Amino acid sequence: MSNEDVWDDFVNLPADPPEMRQLCFSCERPHNVCWCNYLPETRLKPNCKIVLLQHPAEEKRSLRTAPMLTLGLTEGSCVIYKGKKFPTKKHVGLWDILSSKHSVLLYLSEKAIDIAHLPKETEIHNLIILDGTWPQAKAIYNNTQLLQSMTHVKLMHNYESQYIIRSQPTDGCLSTLETAVEALTILENDNSYKNMLLKPLHALCDFQLQHGAVTHQSKEFKKRNQTYPKLIGRRLRQYLDNDSCSELVNT
Ligand SMILES: [Zn+2]
Repeated sequence: MSNEDVWDDFVNLPADPPEMRQLCFSCERPHNVCWCNYLPETRLKPNCKIVLLQHPAEEKRSLRTAPMLTLGLTEGSCVIYKGKKFPTKKHVGLWDILSSKHSVLLYLSEKAIDIAHLPKETEIHNLIILDGTWPQAKAIYNNTQLLQSMTHVKLMHNYESQYIIRSQPTDGCLSTLETAVEALTILENDNSYKNMLLKPLHALCDFQLQHGAVTHQSKEFKKRNQTYPKLIGRRLRQYLDNDSCSELVNT
């Protein structure tokens, strides 16, 4: 067999089939980075329901934190409605939730009240959180009239997100999980939410760092220090220039 024949055989070898990574049935992450073992042994049952209005793009991210809430809380304590505008016909029951006087929206608007300063007699049945990047959350808010007329609450906090993998737009912005946990901790004056629900997030960050992810500083930090590369888009740059922080929280 000539060298050319050997070469022909070599180039005609079929490519290896793509390696199928087995995903965990529950968290849908590959088994070697599954964080299910870090969930609370007994699911936590808050007094109010967490209602996530999720931008469709958020579902496709592999590093999203909403599943930690749905799996860490009792069944039905965290519900997710998907869309860019709410409610539509497919969002069964959502109109009632958004128009209830017992529902509040976590959103940093001018009329937002510090969640820690809500009148004691306030009965909250539903805590609405917009789940997506900050510009997506803002778009959902602008598209949804009902959200604008609700009671708005905000979180006043002075620590940085522990979610160090996915860049947050500004220092002090929290992931969806951290936002919900912080709100529940304040509303119910109970630290078990922080102690138990954040463990999967820490595990996820550890896994990602072990697998070569780089710790992200916030975009605001990089911009301030002129280290943020050109990939920052024009719209995002404008957004960062105009908005001091996310819609959900206050720094
Ligand atoms: Zn899992």
